[in-house]
Amino acid sequence: MIPVNEPLLNGNEKKYLNECIDTGWISSEGPFVQSFEQQMAAAVGRRHGIAVCNGTAALETAVAALELKPGDEVILPTFTIISCAAAVVRQGCVPVLLDSDPETWNMDVDQIEAKLTSRTKAIMVVHIYGLPVDMDPVIALAKKYDLKIIEDAAEMHGQTYKGQPCGSFGDISTFSFYPNKHITTGEGGMVLTDDDQLAERCRSLRNLCFQPHKRFVHEELGYNFRMTNLQAALGIAQIERLAEFVERKRSMGLRYTEMLAGVEGLEMMPVHTEYAKNIYWVFGMVLKDEVSFNAEEAMRRLGEKGIGTRPFFWPMHEQPVFQKMGLFKEECYPVAERLARRGFYIPSGMALSDGQIGEVAKAVTEVMKDLISN
Ligand SMILES: *Cc1c(COP(=O)(O)O)cnc(C)c1O
Repeated sequence: MIPVNEPLLNGNEKKYLNECIDTGWISSEGPFVQSFEQQMAAAVGRRHGIAVCNGTAALETAVAALELKPGDEVILPTFTIISCAAAVVRQGCVPVLLDSDPETWNMDVDQIEAKLTSRTKAIMVVHIYGLPVDMDPVIALAKKYDLKIIEDAAEMHGQTYKGQPCGSFGDISTFSFYPNKHITTGEGGMVLTDDDQLAERCRSLRNLCFQPHKRFVHEELGYNFRMTNLQAALGIAQIERLAEFVERKRSMGLRYTEMLAGVEGLEMMPVHTEYAKNIYWVFGMVLKDEVSFNAEEAMRRLGEKGIGTRPFFWPMHEQPVFQKMGLFKEECYPVAERLARRGFYIPSGMALSDGQIGEVAKAVTEVMKDLISN
């Protein structure tokens, strides 16, 4: 079986983890946490990094830190992970959705302006699968209408937009270090910002809003979202190899693109856009409309051949949990709906070898041939 993701942990991971155990620093008070925050902030060109326990917690913290009011509207893509919309809903705000761009699968920024109302307070940008969102129009609209930008860069470690690091565009930005991201801490996340006050709020929110001078007296409800020294030890070993990992992911993406170029019925993400080279967080593909079967069937056949796959995100407007809340009734986003039904991704973890890429590409070629000829 070739798993859809396997991380690569053969750098200094063991050395730094041993250091945690040898020194007894295993909690969030350990020294690697701050060091990892500083290194991430430097990599993205931000003043502050606030490490948290996962990327979802990073989004929760970021939205909470902005102090939006109940009923305020936040614009975000329908084609994303539930963490994004959940963070908005949990703060009592209203998620307002955008459809996807059919080429890059990112939120279609041309749809933003039509969605603005007097209650719109923020745009949550989510960079999807390997190519960044076209940021210039988003930044221009945010300026014009005085909106905050929350940038979910969970999938964008080492990626740039027009040469500027992803994660540097939001008033507040977030990353995840789940094992399928370009660098991992097992579970982990980070909030980044240049704003001193927002950074202070995030630090307080992740640590139960303990107060420095009256520790157990709370003015506000926070969370325990702290990252441990053990997680940060992994993070430091991984960030040392960020450039190498990004290059490896790009070469995997190119290899798959070349090997699958002749296969009938498949659409793949562009290798690059005007403003970025794809970093292939995952290698996704979408079945063309003339193909009579859906992604589920293709994934089932690949599974029989020992190839791990995952379906694409399921759009927010089609989530039963949000429908039950009365959200997104009768809304329809055809590009995202098509991606969800016809898209899937194949193995592309950091530990994947070129030999395995060849095996996967061969299996995909065979499955597509079989399915199309029947
Ligand atoms: C992975 C991911 C998250 C969530 O991160 P976790 O660490 O798994 O909680 C959020 N947003 C996007 C776009 C992601 O890909």
